[in-house]
Amino acid sequence: MIRITPILLAILYALVMYRLSTWRTHRELDARSTELADPGLKALTDRLAAALGLARIPVYIYEIDPVNGLAAPDGRIFITRGFYRKYRNGEVSGEEMASVIAHELGHVALGHARRRMLDFSGQNALRTALIMVLGRIIPVAGVWIANMLTSLLAARLSRGDEYEADEYAAALLTKAGIGIAPQKSLFAKLEELTQSRAGVAPAWLMSHPKTTERIAALERLEARWQTTR
Ligand SMILES: [Zn+2]
Repeated sequence: MIRITPILLAILYALVMYRLSTWRTHRELDARSTELADPGLKALTDRLAAALGLARIPVYIYEIDPVNGLAAPDGRIFITRGFYRKYRNGEVSGEEMASVIAHELGHVALGHARRRMLDFSGQNALRTALIMVLGRIIPVAGVWIANMLTSLLAARLSRGDEYEADEYAAALLTKAGIGIAPQKSLFAKLEELTQSRAGVAPAWLMSHPKTTERIAALERLEARWQTTR
């Protein structure tokens, strides 16, 4: 007999973890970020804001080196210091930075940022529940299967989010008159730029699918838009 108690305990654990990780993320971001004040980027984000009918888009610099952008569960957009440095160096253009901001806005608008935190603690709970259940039926291998199933599910969910955010960004960049080209050119640079993050960035930053697949998806989208126009 599989009793229900382990599952209830796992759900309770997930709720506590969710509250805790949301609180921890906000505290970390508050402590290590400042609002971005860059006239060149502001001109571009103002075009995104105008396309959305908003007064402005608040973008913050998050003081870590790994190249990344992220959307906090409360809707703020963050660009890492390492990424901003690439822009200042001229390795990444302003339009390419705008494409990252548009992508992160997509995560906010589509409700991913909030769900991702839930996913993260939900994953732990699912893993715990599966280990408890499967571990009883199949000793030893049950734990391995539970881990594998949870990771597979998580990767699938987060990859879907990335493609959705890319699509949202493509539409927004097109509406703002910036276009999809910088999105694609940045993806081509991304693999190289993110080399330094391996083993440094927290796990919740590393959920992006292969860049070649993302470029291909954008090209399919462009082709579709061109035929329906
Ligand atoms: Zn993303």
